[in-house]
Amino acid sequence: MWGHFSRVHISPAHMSVAFLGLGAIGAPMASHLAKTVDLVVWNRTAEKAIAFAARYGVRTAPTPAAAAAGRSAIITCLPTSREVEAVLDGADGLLAGMSRGSTLIDCTSGDPASSRRIAARLAERGICFIDAPVSGGVVGAEKGTLTVMVGGEQATLDSVMQLLETFGKKIVLAGPVGCGHALKAVNNALLAVHIWSAGEGLAALARAGVSPAAALDVINASSGRSNASENLIPQRVLTRAFPRTFRLALLEKDVAIAADFLREQEVPSPVLQQIAELFRLARVELGEEVDHVEAVRLIERHARQEIHG
Ligand code: NDP
Repeated sequence: MWGHFSRVHISPAHMSVAFLGLGAIGAPMASHLAKTVDLVVWNRTAEKAIAFAARYGVRTAPTPAAAAAGRSAIITCLPTSREVEAVLDGADGLLAGMSRGSTLIDCTSGDPASSRRIAARLAERGICFIDAPVSGGVVGAEKGTLTVMVGGEQATLDSVMQLLETFGKKIVLAGPVGCGHALKAVNNALLAVHIWSAGEGLAALARAGVSPAAALDVINASSGRSNASENLIPQRVLTRAFPRTFRLALLEKDVAIAADFLREQEVPSPVLQQIAELFRLARVELGEEVDHVEAVRLIERHARQEIHG
């Protein structure tokens, strides 16, 4: 039966772990592991791994293969499943270093089909796999309060639960391999809908002379509220701060995965197909580096109406 798991309270100090991908969310996740387990890190841009290792007193590895050698668990947190598949192969790849009986935990927000393919390849070598994407943003990663949604076998999750608990507060087995990624993609598609729809509504209200702050005050005491209306738009749009914590390009990737997933499941999905297209256009117009909430800038640009405090 799928559902919540009771926590295993065994010290993970004896576990040897490799972490690959010290990006915006990967680095704070790995920082918790650094305090708890025997950790080695690898990052494509080596300087980031060296700086991380110096700060947290852990070791770096020169290649994914070297990072994986002798480790019981390997965690990846890369942009997409494509990069995860790419670090598996070649003389320096993970597969060259991973041992039978070890586990690959993929915290990337990846796609279900790639995860099933990766899991099948690893199973041939006696290596376990779970997809374990996270939600809660950089702040949640820093606080160690992420939600982790897992696809895979219960026994595999149980064996690495202590590791996930170092950065996760709510850890849920969603179903077989790929289901963690499917759930994450649907969650982020909802995030995209909330940002976009709140942006459209607030632009129109601002045009009509309603102060966005007053409008949000009402919406957040009413049934239209969401994390976008309660937190993202007041803190990032009204203030014009637009901090860069989660790239729009990554959210666009998640929404595209959700749109594909809904088509595969043969669920008619005009809203989620449309939001995938809108975020694709937003990335083309705004670029690879902007934050996801900056999608609102596109609405403002086309409406010729700023949403400010
Ligand atoms: P970033 O863009 O900040 O970091 C990406 C990481 O992947 C970096 O370590 C980067 O290395 C590495 N990387 C990129 N391309 C390659 C490659 N070809 N080969 C090897 N390594 C590569 O992303 P985030 O940390 O924000 O996101 C990571 C994952 O977590 C994504 O799937 C994202 O959707 C998900 N996520 C992010 C959240 C957030 O708030 N940021 C929230 C929840 C999930 P380098 O340093 O060399 O560039």
